[in-house]
Amino acid sequence: MKAAVLHPPDHTLRIEDAVPPTPGPGQVLLKVRACGVCRTDLHIVDGELPAIRSSLIPGHQIVGDILEGATAEMPVGSRVGVSWVGGVDGTCPYCELGAENLCDAPTFTGYNTDGGYAECAVARADFVFPLPDALDDLHAAPLLCAGIIGFRSLRVAGVEPGDQVGLFGFGASASLTISVLQSLKCKVYVSTRGASHRKLAESCGATWVGSEHDKPPVALDRAITFAPSGDVVVSALSSLRKGGVVAINAIHLDRMPQFDYDRLLWGERQIRSVANMTRADARDFLALAGKIGIRPKATVFKLDQANEALAAIRNDAIDGAAVIVP
Ligand SMILES: [Zn+2]
Ligand SMILES: [Zn+2]
Repeated sequence: MKAAVLHPPDHTLRIEDAVPPTPGPGQVLLKVRACGVCRTDLHIVDGELPAIRSSLIPGHQIVGDILEGATAEMPVGSRVGVSWVGGVDGTCPYCELGAENLCDAPTFTGYNTDGGYAECAVARADFVFPLPDALDDLHAAPLLCAGIIGFRSLRVAGVEPGDQVGLFGFGASASLTISVLQSLKCKVYVSTRGASHRKLAESCGATWVGSEHDKPPVALDRAITFAPSGDVVVSALSSLRKGGVVAINAIHLDRMPQFDYDRLLWGERQIRSVANMTRADARDFLALAGKIGIRPKATVFKLDQANEALAAIRNDAIDGAAVIVP
C-alpha cells in the first residue's frame, strides 16, 4: 500500500510502498477514505514530540471503511472514525473510575501506532466510532480531533443551554465549538487576536467579537481558552461571573502569570484543564455534529502531497482544515 512515512530524525515524510498492516485480535483493518491533518502531526514530524519508533505513519483523524475484524455492531464496509486516543489500558485507577481520558498508559494513533496517512490502517475495534451519514468524509475527518476535544472543553466548563460563553482565541477548534454552543442556544462572546480570526468568528454568528485586549460586555458563565497563553487564561478568568468556570483547551501554556486571587478567583470561580477525550465524548459529539450539520472548511491533498499538507498547516496557508485523501 502507499503510505507517507516518517523516518526520524528526518523532518519530512517519504512516500513509500509499505507492507499493508495485519489486524491483530480486537483490531479492525480499515481502508482509509480520508485523514485529517492536525497540528500535533506537525509536532511529531518536526520532532517536538520525541520519536518513539524508527518509522511511523502519522495521522489520527481517520475516516475509513472496515475491511477486516468486523463485529456485529460494525459489519464489513461500515464507515468509522478514529481519533488521537487509540486505546487505553482499562486497568489503571483512572480507567476504573470511568476517566479513561486520564489513563496512565494510553496509546495514540499516528504516534505509538501507525496512523492514517496511508491507504490502509489498523485500529482497536473498541476505539472506532460510527459516523453519521450526514457527515461526508471530508467534513468528518477534521472533527475527529479538534472537534471532539472542543466538545469535551464545553463539558469540562459545565456549559448549560442558554449560558453566556466566552471563547478566547478563535482557530479551527473554536470554530467547530461555536456550532455546538449555538445548538444549545448559548450566546457566544469571542475575544481573539488577528483580524482574520475575528472575521471568521463574525461569519460564524458570534454574539460579540473583540480583540484579545477587549473584555466581553457581559459577565460570562463559562469560558474556554484556546491560545497557549497564560495571559489569555487570566483575561478569561477576569471576565467570569461568580461560580463561573474557565476550561483551558491547550496542552502547553507559556507560563501561568501571577494574578489577584481575591478579585479573580474567589467567589468559587474555577480554572480547569482539558486532557484528551473519552469514547463517550467522541460518540456524543459525532452524533450531534451529524444532527446539527457541522461542516468544517476543508482543503484536499493527495497522499503524495502529505508534506505539502503539513506545510499548509504550518504556514496557516489554507482556510480551515487540511485533509489527505489517498
Ligand atoms: Zn487506564
Ligand atoms: Zn489532533
